[in-house]
Amino acid sequence: MNTPATPLVFQDPLQNPENHTYWEQAQQGRWMLKHCLACDVSHHYPRPYCPHCGSDQTEWRASAGEGEIYTFTRMVRGVETPYLMAYVRLDEGVTVLTHLQAPDWDAVHIGMRVKLGFSASASGQNVPIFVPA
Ligand SMILES: [Zn+2]
Repeated sequence: MNTPATPLVFQDPLQNPENHTYWEQAQQGRWMLKHCLACDVSHHYPRPYCPHCGSDQTEWRASAGEGEIYTFTRMVRGVETPYLMAYVRLDEGVTVLTHLQAPDWDAVHIGMRVKLGFSASASGQNVPIFVPA
């Protein structure tokens, strides 16, 4: 199956104090990860406490936005516009659930190198996605 002709339009993301910096930086074309200063491990999605050790000593760090597909699926049934979802393992060691946009769905495979991209939501907010590297 090739890429559907109609591109997916994202709903506007829900923003709150915990993810405000994340969305603000995404609008500037940067993707931020939270990094725990106590256990020296990054995590995603943004939250005030480290999911690995429970510390509140976290800071924002820019991600290079490069990694590989851990696994993926084609969402085609019961949706108006088919799309790809993937778990991407970033080079920073964090695995993230993300949309994947690829010109040829048949070329997508586990282990494929991907990089960060952005797609605009209905109101123009940059939404991080991944594309083939
Ligand atoms: Zn930690």
